[in-house]
Amino acid sequence: VERTLSIIKPDATRRNLTGKINAKFEEAGLRIVAQKRLHLSTAQAGKFYEVHKERPFYGELVEFMASEPVVVQVLEGEGAIAKNREVMGATNPANADAGTIRKEFALSVGENSVHGSDAPETAKEEIAFFFSGLELV
Ligand code: ATP
Ligand code: MG
Repeated sequence: VERTLSIIKPDATRRNLTGKINAKFEEAGLRIVAQKRLHLSTAQAGKFYEVHKERPFYGELVEFMASEPVVVQVLEGEGAIAKNREVMGATNPANADAGTIRKEFALSVGENSVHGSDAPETAKEEIAFFFSGLELV
């Protein structure tokens, strides 16, 4: 069964939306198999989003992700990576389909409530970035 790394971003934890977002995952058939709340340092957020470091929004993205606590989680299910991205909706909430997390909860293209891995290789790396083998059962 496939696994993917999900982050509930600071705009959502601040508004106490963790439970509502988790309900969307569970309703879609994704199982939350690991979960913890962290306050990332700017160095940690910068490292996590290193792939975007040449993009114009990188500095803003790193500051945002380190601004308040996040909830990091591992979601499991058939086709979990694609299914999670479907439930999240488009990066920009203005383009997100009805019923998706970003349509319902995101504030802007930057403060868009959730992150999800985009491919099997990045899912593996991102899960290992946040979770040890002991935390994954
Ligand atoms: P994520 O990787 O967070 O799941 P994504 O894959 O839909 O989102 P990416 O293109 O990987 O989108 O961008 C990573 C994150 O950077 C976005 O989720 C968003 O928070 C931020 N971002 C993307 N584009 C912009 C933009 N034009 N302005 C500000 N922030 C942006
Ligand atoms: Mg991405």
